Amino acid sequence: MIRRKSASPDVNLNLNVRGLKQSATLAINERSAELIRSGRQVYRLGLGQSPFPVPQPVVDELKANAHQKDYLPVRGLRALRDAVAGYHRRMHGIERSGDDVLIGPGSKELMFVLQLVYYGDLVIPTPSWVSYAPQARIVGRQIHWVPTSPENDWRLMPDDLDRACHDDPGRPRIVILNYPSNPTGDTYTSDELKALAKVAKKYKVILVSDEIYGELHHRGQHVSIARFYPEGTIISGGLSKWCGAGGWRLGTFTFPHSLRWLLDAMATVASETYTSTSAPIQYAAIRAFAGGTEMETYLAHSRRVLRHLGRHVWRSLRDAGASVSEPVGGFYLFPDFGPLRERLARHGVADSITLCERLLGDAGVATLPGSDFGRPPQELTLRLAYVDFDGARCLMAAQQIPLDQELDRAFLELYCPNVMQATAAMASWLKKLK
Ligand code: GLU
Repeated sequence: MIRRKSASPDVNLNLNVRGLKQSATLAINERSAELIRSGRQVYRLGLGQSPFPVPQPVVDELKANAHQKDYLPVRGLRALRDAVAGYHRRMHGIERSGDDVLIGPGSKELMFVLQLVYYGDLVIPTPSWVSYAPQARIVGRQIHWVPTSPENDWRLMPDDLDRACHDDPGRPRIVILNYPSNPTGDTYTSDELKALAKVAKKYKVILVSDEIYGELHHRGQHVSIARFYPEGTIISGGLSKWCGAGGWRLGTFTFPHSLRWLLDAMATVASETYTSTSAPIQYAAIRAFAGGTEMETYLAHSRRVLRHLGRHVWRSLRDAGASVSEPVGGFYLFPDFGPLRERLARHGVADSITLCERLLGDAGVATLPGSDFGRPPQELTLRLAYVDFDGARCLMAAQQIPLDQELDRAFLELYCPNVMQATAAMASWLKKLK
């Protein structure tokens, strides 16, 4: 009997998908959970998930709307779209109406649909969040990584953006700028945003301003680049980070009037794919975007916790010999262990993947390698998310301390023990290597 050699199981996959693995952020989360189930102590600094609970008024709205069972309009609930436009007006002085807003099941999905409908290259700084590039690859777009440097805290420099565009100035492009940044925790000043906006305007790029961490600027001073390039900027946001609701899956895109055709095209694809975003979640989101004192208090306390904890982790890593910039927003740090290269190499660590593997294996700290963010594999960078703590308990305790007071080390030890222990474990692992 002649046996037919069986074909490789993925042989019929779309070539753009073949070879792609599960997204790094979700893979490390599942791996950490598995290790914990098998009895290992793992500090979960891999997935970037808000530790804080969804604010109570928003939870109450969700409960009150559990009965909402009908499909909603493809673009989103009118009252929610108006609330999002109102939010941008209030927060950033950006004039948009509800007609300019598209609601989706997470901003990640909206980014994907945008790349699908718009024929243009994807231009992103390196490092950038793990999913922008794979999404471009799936839909067959060219990816143009723009270099940055640690001396500039990995920020995109206007000259480098200009260099990326000037050879073929009329080429259609989507530039994604994410600030406060995932993975670095850094952000841009108003002047830097103005300078970047000038280049974006010069080449008429579609600028996606990913402001999902905007409300988590540690001092509440987030500024949107849409103020300086209103006609070409799509503001991307959602509930996942500042409202502690990643699993609710609600994202928003706010377009300038001149890009209404793009919103329309995305809505067409939405209507043929996900139909509309979960109804109860949309009703609840109206409350979140409406703002008010309770939301502001929740945010002020969240920011203070992140500011103090981020600063502690930053200092510890710096003192342990890493090169790392002080966080300004969000909940990430992007240390570079390059200064310890020789010491690490003596122990078989010469690239970011091995670095993260060893940190997980030897110190029990889950992080993600810089290579997942578009950095060269031999560079010793990694991203950590300082979110492994019980945010509800921590926020409750923080609320007892007046906002003008600092949160001291004893507070952090008590309410963010895993992050504190993880930081100490990383530092002592580095110290032990001789
Ligand atoms: N944005 C988060 C992160 O970078 C997780 C969500 C996701 O990747 O889908 O860790």
